[in-house]
Amino acid sequence: MDLGITGKRALVCAASKGLGRGCAEALAAEGVSLVINARGRDVLTQTAWEIADRYKVEVTPVAADITTSEGREKVLEALGGQADILVNNAGGPPPGNWLDWDRDDFIRAIEGNMLSAVSLMQALVPGMMERGWGRVVNITSAAVRAPIAQLGLSNTARTGLTGFVAGVSRQVAGKGVCINNLLPGLHDTDRATALDTGVSQAQGITVAEARARREAAIPTGRYGRAEDFGAACAFLCSQQARFIVGQNLMLDGGANNATI
Ligand code: NAP
Repeated sequence: MDLGITGKRALVCAASKGLGRGCAEALAAEGVSLVINARGRDVLTQTAWEIADRYKVEVTPVAADITTSEGREKVLEALGGQADILVNNAGGPPPGNWLDWDRDDFIRAIEGNMLSAVSLMQALVPGMMERGWGRVVNITSAAVRAPIAQLGLSNTARTGLTGFVAGVSRQVAGKGVCINNLLPGLHDTDRATALDTGVSQAQGITVAEARARREAAIPTGRYGRAEDFGAACAFLCSQQARFIVGQNLMLDGGANNATI
């Protein structure tokens, strides 16, 4: 299917690896030029080079922490202040126990997984509205729908972002801008390996056993892949997705046992 977005320009945040990279690759495969971002310059530069080489699109890497206002300014400068497509992403907050988190822990999580996405929407969506076309995909988490006990900081911050999107997406849809959220369940990335390691330590089992147990709990019998995730992101950024507004799409291999 031709997604009709060849020649568009996208910002994909936190995209040197994992789900962000999956989204960047899927958009590049559709002929979208990219600004991609991550903190670590070396991996980011290598990723930008690989994507540009493979898909023959322009890819500009910007090494910056997207959860800081200085980092976002650098990224926006590279874009010349405008983009057709925005994919919001950042690293997830650390796991822990709800009784141990203090105010600073919550502020950091909210800055990283809610307010940085809000700021970038505030910076880029007005231009999309003026031009009459835009797509925003926020990478949140399956934890928004089905909370994960040890990821309470993530549950909290991402649910806040979800509430913001629910309201704003309806205010901008009339100008051709569709904002939606993608909710990853378990995907085979560094983040998943880190969480597997945590489970192995907590349960006194090997990392391989921890992974096998977690995979067995998914109806598809495996973790998702970055390319599975990227394909869904590219579709939400397509012309065909023009009637999808303010939705929360679970990508979890059926792990969340719910009727709707
Ligand atoms: P990942 O494989 O660890 O990749 C994270 C990417 O984000 C890297 O490119 C990293 O590069 C970049 N990054 C992290 N913090 C950043 C920051 N402050 N500013 C700019 N770039 C940053 O993680 P992932 O699995 O793709 O996860 C992406 C998001 O989905 C996370 O929020 C995660 O919590 C969430 N999620 C993942 C899963 C899963 O199973 N994988 C499930 C649910 C939710 P640098 O380190 O160089 O900055």
